[in-house]
Amino acid sequence: MKKTVLITGASSGFGKAAAKLFDTNGWNVIATMRSPEKETELAKLSNVFISQLDVTDKLSIQNAVAAGIEKFGKIDVLVNNAGYGALGAFEAATEEQVKQQFDVNLFGLIAVTKAVLPGMRQQQSGVIINVSSVGGRITFPFSSLYHATKFAVEGLTESMQYELKPLGISLKIVEPGGYKTEFAGRSMTLFNLDGLDDYQPAFNKFITMLDQWDMSENIGEVADAIYEAATDGSEKLRYPVGHDAVQLVQTRRQMDDVDFKKMMTAQTGI
Ligand code: NAP
Repeated sequence: MKKTVLITGASSGFGKAAAKLFDTNGWNVIATMRSPEKETELAKLSNVFISQLDVTDKLSIQNAVAAGIEKFGKIDVLVNNAGYGALGAFEAATEEQVKQQFDVNLFGLIAVTKAVLPGMRQQQSGVIINVSSVGGRITFPFSSLYHATKFAVEGLTESMQYELKPLGISLKIVEPGGYKTEFAGRSMTLFNLDGLDDYQPAFNKFITMLDQWDMSENIGEVADAIYEAATDGSEKLRYPVGHDAVQLVQTRRQMDDVDFKKMMTAQTGI
């Protein structure tokens, strides 16, 4: 019997690449997104069912999960991919920006997972893949709120695996490094530094660092890692992907906090 995957944030980047890969491999795909009316490419694929889902809107989550189950019978794999980076000086973030970052990257992921879990529990099988980031393992300057959400996703996922394994459900974390998606484009929020000039020199260095970051164009690597996590049947929890991610996680493991901070300061000038 064909398996079914539900993916959030399938309108672009990793979510869209994963939707195409699962489709190519003969899966039923529930490709969810905030604005399905804008989608043209996925709509042409025979195994793909597009459904409206905003991770901050509980009703849209319930509707998308119900419609997907009605269409394909069940959900075998959930890919919690929707997310974005809210970056800049912590002090400059408005309450609304703080709330939105957590609503999408953490509480949204929790809400979608809660909506899918009853079905997985009933069928006593399932894989939940949470797209975190290398930023769920290490930190960069001026990214505190983004890291806070991704570190939370890491802890949440790592703990959930204990209670869900006996029920036949496995948990996975995919940790991409820097890739050229909409993440560094239209999806990114930068906090306004007006009136907070003290941060400006270091923030300028951060922006230079972002501009110079050699982000990979091969977003298929992340789709591959998501697909591997969905299908390898292993106990493996974390899937760092991309040269920078693998190297940074290794470096972090080998250094204590002080040495890592020195290295980051040396590399960023911050
Ligand atoms: P992307 O191209 O910007 O894709 C992000 C997706 O999330 C878009 O489909 C976007 O939908 C969706 N989204 C945002 N807010 C949403 C909401 N409230 N409800 C539902 N969907 C929402 O960037 P990406 O790189 O593929 O990002 C995917 C995931 O990878 C994110 O969790 C990100 O944190 C993580 N990540 C990215 C990188 C990187 O370098 N690219 C590195 C590490 C981790 P709209 O089209 O409607 O805006």
